[in-house]
Parts: sequence; C-alpha cells; structure tokens
Amino acid sequence: MKHKKILASVLMLGLISGCGIMDQASLSESQEAAETKSTTVTSSVEQLTPEEEQQIKEKEEHQAMLDELPGVSVSDWNLLLVNNSQQIDRTLDLPLTTLPNGYLIDERIKEDYENWLAKASQAGYEMVLVSSYRSVDLQQKNYDNSIQRYLDQNYTQEEAVKMTKDYIAIPGGSEHHTGLAVDMVDSDWLKTGKGLIPEYDTQDSQQWLLDNMTDYGFILRFPQGKEKETGIQYESWHFRYVGVENAKYIEKYNLSFEEYIQLLKEAGK
Ligand SMILES: [Zn+2]
Repeated sequence: MKHKKILASVLMLGLISGCGIMDQASLSESQEAAETKSTTVTSSVEQLTPEEEQQIKEKEEHQAMLDELPGVSVSDWNLLLVNNSQQIDRTLDLPLTTLPNGYLIDERIKEDYENWLAKASQAGYEMVLVSSYRSVDLQQKNYDNSIQRYLDQNYTQEEAVKMTKDYIAIPGGSEHHTGLAVDMVDSDWLKTGKGLIPEYDTQDSQQWLLDNMTDYGFILRFPQGKEKETGIQYESWHFRYVGVENAKYIEKYNLSFEEYIQLLKEAGK
C-alpha cells in the first residue's frame, strides 16, 4: 500500500511539473501573440487623428440621440415653434381659456400648469403669473414702448432697437402669441419691484421651478448659454409648455427648443 502511494505521488509530481513546463511554453507563445496583436491595434489607432476620433464619437452620440427621440411630430400643437425668424400664423385659431387672474393661456395646458403651481405652493412658493398669451397687437405696443424707453435714455435709434430685440421678440415672433408660454416670478420677488431680470434665478422659487418643470411639461425657453440658438437673451422667468415627454428629452440632452425641433426634423418626425 505504501509503495503504491509513493508511486502515485511521483507520478503526480511529474504531471504537475510537466504541466508547468507546458504552461511556460504556451505562455510565451501567447505573449508573443499578444504583442503582435497589440502592435496591430496600436498602428490602426495611430491612423486616426484625435479630431477624427472625436468626430466618430460625436457621430455615435448624435445617432444615439436620434434613436432615443420620442414618437412625436413637429406638427404637434405643443411643439409650435415661434421665434423672430419663424413668425406665428396669424390666422391660427387658438383654444384660449381665461385664468382666475384674467390672463389667457391655451386651454390644453391649463391642467398641467395649475398642478405645477399647486405643487409650488405646497413647497412654499407662491408663484405669480406676470404674462401669458399676448396678441400680436399687444406685442407691437410692448416692442414700441421698449424702443421709446431706450430713446428717452438718449440711446440712438439703432441701439434702442438692438437692445429691445435682445429681450423682446419682434411682433409676430413672440412665443407669447401661442398661449403656451408663461412668465412667472414668486410673490416676494414681485414685491421688490425688480421685475423680470435674469437675477430672478437667485431665488429658491426659480430653482424649484427648474427642478420640477419637466414633470408638468414645461421647459425654460431661453436658457443661459443658448442665446445663439434661440436668438433671445437668458430669461430666468419665461417657461414654455411642450408636454412631458418632449420636456424630459430636452432637459436630458440640454437642448434649446430650436435644437430639439431641428433634431426631430432631421429624424423625419
Ligand atoms: Zn416671456
């Protein structure tokens, strides 16, 4: 019995050491193979410039964005795009409804809008609607008044028009013509008399609106950093209804409304 055990041990050792040798041999073979492979990989990577790699990456990301677009159409009522270069069709029949404070909005956004404000109120913020639907005639009045104010401050006509255009859409080009836009600040801010200025974003209420707006289908229409795309300076108080799924997508990809519409068109939607 004892002999058999020893023999078995010797055999095992032989097998183990044999295996070891074989392993070493195959290891160096695979190392060589790996080195050859890595040389091949390195040389093919070297053929792409950093710019080319970046282009490929951007193309892939862009395609992923297109693939993820919701099943909507640019002709949907809540995606109506109005800006200085795409003026509203003045014959459009809008289903407007009057809010308790007398302002008009599109009746299709009333429920979401009121739910949003009710939620804000629960969070401790009393929001005040400062402006909503505006007729083209009223926009013309606001536009002319703004120019006049600058002229009164001794700016030239050219300067007055330019400064007005930064904040006020030209009549026909205002999103307020759609009934889908609301200008809002909280009641405390309103009392300060500072009005609609970018610095309203220093208030907690504004941050709350931003954090919750897409749940109710709204976006901040003229965000900071998108002035080139929208053609309008940053407005911390102007919100636009686009519906929940559009709003969520726009927020996720940090798009301006113009960029979003462009993307939908590109996808043939
Ligand atoms: Zn506005």
